[in-house]
Amino acid sequence: MGSSGGNRTVHSLGRAWRGCEFTAPVQFGRKIMNIAVAPGLLGAEAAAFLRGKHQMLIDGKWVDSQSGKAFDVFDPADGQKITSVPEAGQADVDLAVAAARKAFDHGPWTRITPTERSVIIWRLADLLDRHGDELSQIESVDNGKSASQARAVDVGFGVDLLRYMAGWCTKIGGDVIPMSVPGDWHAYTLREPVGVCAQIVPWNFPLLMAIWKIAPAFAAGCTVVLKPAEQTPLSAIRLGQIIQEAGFPDGVFNVVTGDGRVGAALVDHPDVDKVAFTGSTEVGKLIVKGSAGNLKKVSVELGGKSPQIVFPDADLDHTISGTASGIFFNSGQCCTAGSRIYAHKSIFDKLMAGLADEASKLKIGRGLLPDTDIGPVISQEQFDKVSGYLEAGKRDGAEVVTGGERWGTEGYFIKPTVFAHTNPQMSIVREEIFGPVVCAMPFDDDQLEAIALEANNTPFGLGASIWTRDAGIAHKLARKIKAGTVWVNAHLTNDVALPFGGFKQSGWGREMGREAIDLYTQVKSVAMRL
Ligand code: NAD
Repeated sequence: MGSSGGNRTVHSLGRAWRGCEFTAPVQFGRKIMNIAVAPGLLGAEAAAFLRGKHQMLIDGKWVDSQSGKAFDVFDPADGQKITSVPEAGQADVDLAVAAARKAFDHGPWTRITPTERSVIIWRLADLLDRHGDELSQIESVDNGKSASQARAVDVGFGVDLLRYMAGWCTKIGGDVIPMSVPGDWHAYTLREPVGVCAQIVPWNFPLLMAIWKIAPAFAAGCTVVLKPAEQTPLSAIRLGQIIQEAGFPDGVFNVVTGDGRVGAALVDHPDVDKVAFTGSTEVGKLIVKGSAGNLKKVSVELGGKSPQIVFPDADLDHTISGTASGIFFNSGQCCTAGSRIYAHKSIFDKLMAGLADEASKLKIGRGLLPDTDIGPVISQEQFDKVSGYLEAGKRDGAEVVTGGERWGTEGYFIKPTVFAHTNPQMSIVREEIFGPVVCAMPFDDDQLEAIALEANNTPFGLGASIWTRDAGIAHKLARKIKAGTVWVNAHLTNDVALPFGGFKQSGWGREMGREAIDLYTQVKSVAMRL
């Protein structure tokens, strides 16, 4: 990417932003660099936050790590250092867990009324909404994603979810149970908060994944230690500041930053009652094993290889744009990315041509630019991994319909890629790529049983979509598919009220909807002889 002095020129991103004003000088690592964006794109608030000191939140105080160690955070659009954040160790984890323990066992948080809890959570939603532009810009710089998509999806959905969960505070109750044993009894159940929750989130939706976890935990009355991914800790730190502003008592929300070792220390901690994790299936299995010490409650939301199944009667225009966004949204870094397409042979070629056309229309670039559709993938490591799959696909004989290579010469950009005529033996079909890469296969057998067999031919079971106008086919196939969410004529659409989670090796537990409250509460039976 061309640059002159410290100024990054926007046209060097391949875009028509030549001559735009530089609006905000931002501290990028050791040098001050003016990010070249259209006026207002990196607002003063986001710039001030990025320039500031980044610390961990423990017991209501902003602190460095006990060891004084820190690690660097990079902008995936150019690989440059943004800032550094504390590198937590065991001592910091112990302090954060102790703070969450104290806030749960003694603090006002568990004694205030459900309505008061609801008001505070709702206030947090209002504040996040008010700071929405700033948060989406921070997310864009840290993660690479489109800021406007982050405003609509990451922040917008997060705000909605907090409001939805705020409503649950006043509705978490038990039942009166009719007993059959001899005597006069009055028996009932209480639904109580599970306690101190360690919440470990990934880098693909850093803020939104944090909110998916904290919203039901707070609604249930739990306290939290959040560990954001080491690649993207910044929005979690800003979230902590806003949580304080909303009036949450000290210790109810704590943030520790660091890599998997910090996550493992939380998972192992005897004073943590529950672990909630989103990330890879491999680490999910470690979390399950690591939680065994004190038999923590565990929920894990893991990887996927979600099929999109297209029947010949589908509305093709709608299907082309829907299946394209089903795989390319967020640069394919979605756990439910529709990365396997099974399309009837009669429409296969048209669908491939349509997907190639959609891919060519997607604007690739720095996420802060207003018309960017696709940003970079998150890191050099992820870039290498996705590039390795592109090579493997070509080596194994898949046809490259579009893409198949990096975009530009700097940063971690990958062109949206469609592989056709793939087969289940190929690693690109079997394994989660977590990039903007889809594998397509035609089918000619109209037996739903055979199609379901193909769709289910994976250890994962997170999402699936069926594209058809035939309601009978849609509902029959939906029952045969082993996945936590099945969409019809849509892919990736989540809702605050719709339970979300995995079958098979895609995870345990359901987030969102009333099921999420179950993850953060436990039932106590009270039986009284009258
Ligand atoms: P990861 O599973 O290693 O990391 C996710 C989170 O877990 C991070 O916060 C990380 O620090 C933490 N972690 C890592 N090791 C841990 C351990 N032993 N104990 C406790 N916490 C630990 O994911 P990744 O390495 O960043 O990405 C690898 C692959 O995971 C990706 O290529 C992708 O396939 C998949 N992934 C899936 C999702 C999803 O939403 N399902 C999200 C991110 C990544």
